[in-house]
Amino acid sequence: MLTIRDLDFSYPNGESGLAVPQWDVANGEAVALVGPSGAGKTTLLKLICGIHQPSGGTIECVGVTVTALSDPERRAWRLRKVGVVFQDFALMDYLTVRENLLLPLRLGAGARAGEEGHARTLADQLEVSRYWNKLASELSQGERQRVAIARALVHRPVLVLADEPTASLDATRKSQAVRLMLEECRSRQAGLVMVTHDPELLPLFDRVVSLEDIVS
Ligand code: ADP
Repeated sequence: MLTIRDLDFSYPNGESGLAVPQWDVANGEAVALVGPSGAGKTTLLKLICGIHQPSGGTIECVGVTVTALSDPERRAWRLRKVGVVFQDFALMDYLTVRENLLLPLRLGAGARAGEEGHARTLADQLEVSRYWNKLASELSQGERQRVAIARALVHRPVLVLADEPTASLDATRKSQAVRLMLEECRSRQAGLVMVTHDPELLPLFDRVVSLEDIVS
C-alpha cells in the first residue's frame, strides 16, 4: 500500500533532512513508528502525505506515485485519500466541532449521504459529540486531540498518519482512541502509521519500526 524508494529530503536550511532507501507498508498494516526526538519521524509523515516534496526518490501509495504529482494534485490527493492527525492538531479554531469534522468531506471527497452520520458516530466513540456545536477554540487539549483523530478518519481514507495522537489523553482514552483507529483502518484494509512513544500501545500494532533502522 505504501512503497518508498531512495527517498531524499533536506530542509531549506540544509542542516537537517532524511534519507530512506527502502520502506514498505502492506495493505491494511498498522505500523508504530518509534525513534528519538529529532530523528525525523514527523518529517517522514509529512513526506508521505505530500506536505514536503523530496529532492529525490519515490513514494507510491495505493497505485499513486505521490512524488510525481504537482503541488495542487498532491494536496487534492491528501485531502481525499489520507487522514492525518498532526502533532498540533491543525483544527480550525473558528469552526465548530461539527464543521471541523465535515471539513475533509467538503474539501476533498465531497459530502455523500450518510457521511455526517459517520462523523457523528466517530464523535460519539471519541466522546466529543457533546461539543458538536462548540467552537474548537473552546475545547481542552485532550478534547481537541480527540476531534483531530475523528477528523482523520471521517472520510474513510486509504492511509492514516498520526503523529503522537495520544499525547494529551489519559490512559483510558489513549487506549480507546488507538483501538478505534486500528478498528477503523483494519475494517477496510487502510494502512496506519502512528508515531508513538507509549510502550503500552506498541503490542496493538502489526509491526513496530524504529526510524533509525530505515534511514541511511
Ligand atoms: P521527530 O518527529 O523525530 O522528533 P522531526 O521530523 O520533527 O523529528 O525533525 C527532524 C529534524 O529536522 C530535526 O533536526 C529538526 O530540528 C529538523 N526540522 C524539523 N522541521 C524543520 C523545519 N521546518 N526546518 C528546518 N529543520 C527542521
